[in-house]
Amino acid sequence: MDCIFCKIANGEIPCKKVYEDENVIAFHDLDPQAPTHVLIIPKTHIGSAMEINEENSGVIGHIYEVAAKISGDLGLENGFRIVNNCGEDGGQTVHHIHFHLLGGRSMKWPPG
Ligand code: AMP
Ligand code: ZN
Repeated sequence: MDCIFCKIANGEIPCKKVYEDENVIAFHDLDPQAPTHVLIIPKTHIGSAMEINEENSGVIGHIYEVAAKISGDLGLENGFRIVNNCGEDGGQTVHHIHFHLLGGRSMKWPPG
């Protein structure tokens, strides 16, 4: 499958890696929208939040554990935002589920 985040997960495409274990990898976004902007992805291909089901949902909880773990190393003790864009209306451009971990500035609400 021609999926850019699968290629990052299997090492075919380089990234600025922040964290990696058996099931997930976290790396700096190429086009940061905040002083800290990291993407956390499962290594297995899940297209979007619409494809989360009983079989694959465990890794989603694990992604939030990883976010909590790496937030301290990234200096985000003051807080952060986790964003998951899903589908066309959600503004998703890469169709391998990913969670944006954004921090280092105060976030606005509501999002655009
Ligand atoms: P989304 O719009 O939620 O699908 O987010 C996709 C994100 O992936 C964007 O913030 C892009 O800047 C980022 N991105 C795309 N290609 C790469 C890459 N090769 N390495 C790091 N980030 C990337
Ligand atoms: Zn993929």
